[in-house]
Amino acid sequence: MLTVKAYAATSAAEPLAPITIERRELDPHDVLIEIKYAGICHSDIHHARGDWGPQAYPVVPGHEIAGYVTAVGSDVTKHGVGDRVGAGCMVNSCRECVNCRKSEEQFCLQGMTGTYGAVDRDGALTQGGYSTHVVVNEDFVLRIPEGIGLDEAAPLLCAGITTYSPLRRFGAGPGKKVAVVGLGGLGHMAVKHAHAMGAEVTVLSQSLKKREDALRLGADHYYATSDLATFEQLAGAFDLIVNTVSARLDMDAYLSLLVANGTMANVGAPAEPMSLNVFSPLMGGKIVAGSLIGGIRETQEMLNFCAEHGYGSEIEVIPAERINEAWQRVLASDVRYRFVIDTATLA
Ligand code: NAP
Ligand code: ZN
Ligand code: ZN
Repeated sequence: MLTVKAYAATSAAEPLAPITIERRELDPHDVLIEIKYAGICHSDIHHARGDWGPQAYPVVPGHEIAGYVTAVGSDVTKHGVGDRVGAGCMVNSCRECVNCRKSEEQFCLQGMTGTYGAVDRDGALTQGGYSTHVVVNEDFVLRIPEGIGLDEAAPLLCAGITTYSPLRRFGAGPGKKVAVVGLGGLGHMAVKHAHAMGAEVTVLSQSLKKREDALRLGADHYYATSDLATFEQLAGAFDLIVNTVSARLDMDAYLSLLVANGTMANVGAPAEPMSLNVFSPLMGGKIVAGSLIGGIRETQEMLNFCAEHGYGSEIEVIPAERINEAWQRVLASDVRYRFVIDTATLA
């Protein structure tokens, strides 16, 4: 066992606090990662605050992990000591079911093992990336290409893949008009990816505050959703809408912005269900889709795509003592555009 420093939520209401946790001995196919940076995802907050149901505490959140390999198990072939690597939302799955065989491990029929808050194969509760080290099966460790800093790479492991996957699946590219709803951690990655894929990108944000940033990140157009004229002006305008909002939306209002047969892909995960009117606007041939992170193969493809196109995430690196403040800013939609913890500062 390796005793390591971490930051944990000890209940749904308390601020996060320093803690030490145990990491398991390496199995033959395990990799020990020395974590350098860990991104803060809104899912960390939903999870630790019980939005998605009761949790077993303490919870060490964090599923946007970037660092170096410092040890490998006896049978590891995919990674070596010193490699720049990452880990995302999953640390294991069955490998044998129909979905695992397609490298859609996030849909493993036996349930993928989440990076935190899940029961691991050895029966222990998994603990996430707000810590100095993590042990991950080699198949769930990603290579971070040269050219992307480890700090700006960390958020790619969740925000990056979660937005890349539906953009690819629904054909974002030249000639396609893509709207991104919500300019936070996921939203800003959706803008960067869709722009790099060659789509015409529009940001729909609550206010005009993030307009300059959105245009710099690669958006072609920007509208405030607080202005009701936006919905009249943009009726039928988009082939694809990627909804990254962490709260409920008026689905009918957004579906009316799609062309006939257009798709609204939902990656935001609010606690409450959302309703929609099946008659209109949905009957305009429209598709409402869900999407959950992405498989390991597609995550590596996304990392390589980002390196080829020369971008990572737009980040604000913070010391561990500012994690609680960062969570408050995420909740207030005041993140520009992903907080990343420098794990060297874990006390
Ligand atoms: P985030 O950084 O907080 O971004 C969410 C953005 O949504 C905010 O910046 C804000 O953008 C907008 N927003 C927030 N509250 C709103 C409201 N009441 N009405 C309208 N817009 C609002 O969060 P994130 O880390 O990107 O995560 C976003 C959501 O995706 C979370 O629910 C998270 O759990 C989920 N998620 C899902 C997956 C998946 O696999 N499906 C993976 C990761 C995360 P503006 O200020 O621009 O309006
Ligand atoms: Zn996440
Ligand atoms: Zn499986």
